[in-house]
Amino acid sequence: MILTLASAIAAASVTEAFVAVAPERKAFLTGSATKFARLDVVSPPASWSSSSSSLSMKYGSATLSRVVDSIRSKERSREELKVGIAGFYDRSSKLWEEVWGEHMHHGYYVPENRTDHVQAQIDLIDEVLAWSGIDSPPSSVVDVGCGVGGSSRHIARKYGCERAEGITLSPYQAARGNELAVETGLADACTYRVADALEMPFDDDAFDLVWSLESGEHMPEKTKFVGELLRVAAPGGRIIIVTWCHRDLEEGEKDLTKKEKKLLAKINRAYYLPPWCSVADYVTMLEERGAKDIRRDDWSHIIAPFWKAVIKSSLNFKSVVGLAKSGFSTQRGAYAMFLMLRGFNKGLIKFGLITCTKPELESSPEAMD
Ligand code: SAH
Repeated sequence: MILTLASAIAAASVTEAFVAVAPERKAFLTGSATKFARLDVVSPPASWSSSSSSLSMKYGSATLSRVVDSIRSKERSREELKVGIAGFYDRSSKLWEEVWGEHMHHGYYVPENRTDHVQAQIDLIDEVLAWSGIDSPPSSVVDVGCGVGGSSRHIARKYGCERAEGITLSPYQAARGNELAVETGLADACTYRVADALEMPFDDDAFDLVWSLESGEHMPEKTKFVGELLRVAAPGGRIIIVTWCHRDLEEGEKDLTKKEKKLLAKINRAYYLPPWCSVADYVTMLEERGAKDIRRDDWSHIIAPFWKAVIKSSLNFKSVVGLAKSGFSTQRGAYAMFLMLRGFNKGLIKFGLITCTKPELESSPEAMD
C-alpha cells in the first residue's frame, strides 16, 4: 500500500532516470492513456459536461472522473473501491517498479540512518517473519494483496516453498508477477492472479503461511478479511498481517475524535481506503474466531525513516516542477502523503503487526466464518 503514497513522490522525483522518461510516465500515472480509461469507477455528473469542457481538455476524461471522485465526501462502496484500487495499481505499478523495485511496502530502519532502501524493504520481510516466530519452513504460502509478488518470491526462495500463490485486484500486477516469476526461475512455484481477498479462490486449509503485507488497509470488511485468512490457512498454519491501523481506543473511549476521523476520511479518498480499524480490533476478531498464539506489535518507529528519505529526495526545485506538471492524481497523492505523516506524528496512524496460528483440527471452533 505504500505504493499509493510513494508513487506520487516517485512520479515527481528528481532522479535523472525519472526525468529522462517523464512524459510517458506522466501519461501512465495520470491515466490519460486510453487503455486505463475503462478502469474509472465514477463518471462525472451530466451537469459537468458543458461547464467542464476546458478542464476536460486539460486533464482528459479519465482524470476528470478521478477529480470528481476525489472531491466527493461519501465513503466508496465495496464495488467502487475494488475498481478504484485495481485502476490505481494498474496505473502506478510500472512506475513504482522502475523507481523502487518489486517491493511495494515500507523498509526496516534499524539502524535508522540506513540508506539502502531496497535492502531495508527485503529486511522488513525477514524481520517480520522472525518476529512472527515461524518455527518450521512453510511449504506453501499465499500472498494476499501481493503487488507484483515481491514478498512471495522472496519467501518461496527463502524456504524453498513448493507453492506460492499471490492475489491482487490489479490485472497489471498479476501479469507482471507471473512475468517476474518466469524471469527469476520461480515459475514452477509462484503464480499470480486477479482475485478478491474477501472471496479467495482457494480451498479451506490450503496454506502453511498466510501473508498479508500492507494490503489489509484496503479491505472494506475487516471481519470477512480475517475470516478468509483463517479459512485458507492450514490447521497449525501461521497468519501474518502487517497493516496500517488507527490507534487503539483508550478505556472508555467509544470512537476516534471528530478531527481524527476527518483526517482519515481525507486519506481514504486519496488512497482508495475504507474505514480503518485498530490493531486491538484485529486481535479481537482473531480471538473471536478461535485463533491461537495471537501476538501484536507496533513498528511505526521502525518504518518512519523511509518517509523522511522519500521526502528529502523530492524536496528540490526539479521535483516541485515535476509535481506541478504531473497531473491531478499525483498531486492529490503527494498532498495526502503529508496527511499520512501528520497521522503518524500524532500517534493516530500505526504500522501494526499481528500474527496468530490457526488451531489444529481437533480444537477448531465449528464456525470460522
Ligand atoms: N503486499 C505487496 C503490495 C502492497 S500494495 C507488497 O508489499 O509489495 C496493496 C496490494 O493490495 C495491491 O496489490 C492491491 O491490488 C491489493 N489489494 C487491495 N485490496 C485487495 C482485495 N480486496 N483483494 C486482493 N488484493 C487487494
